[in-house]
Amino acid sequence: MASNRIARRGLMLVLSSPSGAGKTTISRLLLERDSCLSMSISTTTRPIRPGEKDSRDYHFVDPTEFNLMVNRQEFLEHAKVFGNYYGTPRVAVEEALAGGSDVVFDIDWQGAQQLGEVAGEDLVRVFLLPPSTEELNRRLHRRAQDTAEVVASRMAKAADEMSHWAEYDFIVINEDVETSVAQVQAILAAERLRRQRQLGLSELVKRLQEGY
Ligand code: 5GP
Repeated sequence: MASNRIARRGLMLVLSSPSGAGKTTISRLLLERDSCLSMSISTTTRPIRPGEKDSRDYHFVDPTEFNLMVNRQEFLEHAKVFGNYYGTPRVAVEEALAGGSDVVFDIDWQGAQQLGEVAGEDLVRVFLLPPSTEELNRRLHRRAQDTAEVVASRMAKAADEMSHWAEYDFIVINEDVETSVAQVQAILAAERLRRQRQLGLSELVKRLQEGY
C-alpha cells in the first residue's frame, strides 16, 4: 500500500519579544516537547553570562571574528542589539531544514525583518508580549545577573522592540507560560498544515482519485 505521508517543507519560526516577556522559557519548552523542532544557535559578541555555555546558548566570538563571518556571508541575518552584535549562522539553519526540522529563532525585530527578505513564505513570525507593565518590570528585575544599568537600558529597549509588533503574523500575550506554549504549538500545528508546505499533495490526491 502506498504511504499517504506527505513530505513537508520546513518552516522557520521567529519568536521575538521585549526582554523579559518569557521568550527563553517558551522556546526551551517548545523544543523539549517537539522533536521536529531545532533551535538556531546565534553567534554573538556579547560576553558570556554565568550559567551559559558556548555553542549551547550562543557561539561566543570577538568582534574581529564576527566581522570576518559577516564578510564571508556566513549569516542569514545579523544586527546590533544592546550594543553587541548578533547573527544567525546560515549553514546550521540550512542543514536543519534539509534534515526535516523546523527551526526556531530567538531574534529581535531587525533579524525578523531580514529573515523575511530571505525566507519569504517559509517564515512564521510570532511576537510575545508581557501582560502588563508591572509584570514586565518585575520580570526584568528578577534577572539577577544583569546590572542596574543593563536593566534600565533593557526597559528603554523594550518600548522600542514592542513598537514592531505589527510586523508579526501572530501575537501571544504571555500571561501564563503553559498557555503561551500551547498557543505557539497551535500556531505551529496550523502552519505545518498549510497547503503550500505539504509537498506531494497533488500526487496523493491523484492516487486517491485513481485508486492506486
Ligand atoms: P540576550 O543577549 O539577552 O541573549 O539577547 C538580546 C536580544 O538579542 C534578544 O532580543 C534576542 O532575541 C536578540 N538576538 C539573539 N540572537 C540574535 C540573532 O542572531 N539575531 C538578531 N537579530 N537578534 C538576536
